[in-house]
Amino acid sequence: MSNLQKTRAIVLSKLNFGDTSKIVTLYTEDYGKETCIIKGGRSAKSKIGGIIDVMNHIEVVFYKKENREMQLISQSDLISHYPHIKENLDSLKYAASVLELLYSLTIANEVNKKLYKGSVKILDMMNDSSDNPQLLFVKYFLFFLDELGYSLKEYNCKKCSKDFSESEVIYYNHERGFLCPDCGKNEIVNYEFSKELFNLLICLSAKQNQCTYSFENLKKLILFFEKFLKYHVPEFKGLKSIYTL
Ligand SMILES: [Zn+2]
Repeated sequence: MSNLQKTRAIVLSKLNFGDTSKIVTLYTEDYGKETCIIKGGRSAKSKIGGIIDVMNHIEVVFYKKENREMQLISQSDLISHYPHIKENLDSLKYAASVLELLYSLTIANEVNKKLYKGSVKILDMMNDSSDNPQLLFVKYFLFFLDELGYSLKEYNCKKCSKDFSESEVIYYNHERGFLCPDCGKNEIVNYEFSKELFNLLICLSAKQNQCTYSFENLKKLILFFEKFLKYHVPEFKGLKSIYTL
């Protein structure tokens, strides 16, 4: 049995399939990550093939059949193609990184409406606001980790419980978490935070709007989140767009 279903979605990837079709991966509002086929999608005349392009926000109708790997798309309408993101290389690489996280770290058909809404919101902001795209991406990355079930909000040493207010440096060990300088010196240090960098992490985790940041520290946080994910999700090989675009 198959049912016609309508949902909104972000297009994560698009590939040729056979001589005439396209395969697309969508992050949908109602069905989570879904792989679909556009029959005849390779033709320049295909209206659906044109609308369903990487990074576009769309409304889509497909025949949903349980236990089938690919759903067949019957119709699609464009909500936004984010023209301003595509005009700016910096916005483009961070927006592409949002898509990469959704593509490589969400589980097929696992519904998360909050993650869908947050992802659309960040793409809208990258397109419409004058906020720095790197800062927006770091905020999104924290939200994304939170949605995956990882929280990085830690005020005390995991070993001795001492708070970090007096520490000039804070260590991070994948097994133990955040450690004060005294406890950290006897452990493998997987990441080292200066006081300033750590305060930025805490400020952004608390969703405060006026965090003091430098681009260097934003870059360091992205590297830390990547290391963190690579440790917890071995299949994750790191972000590509951010370093290649
Ligand atoms: Zn300690």
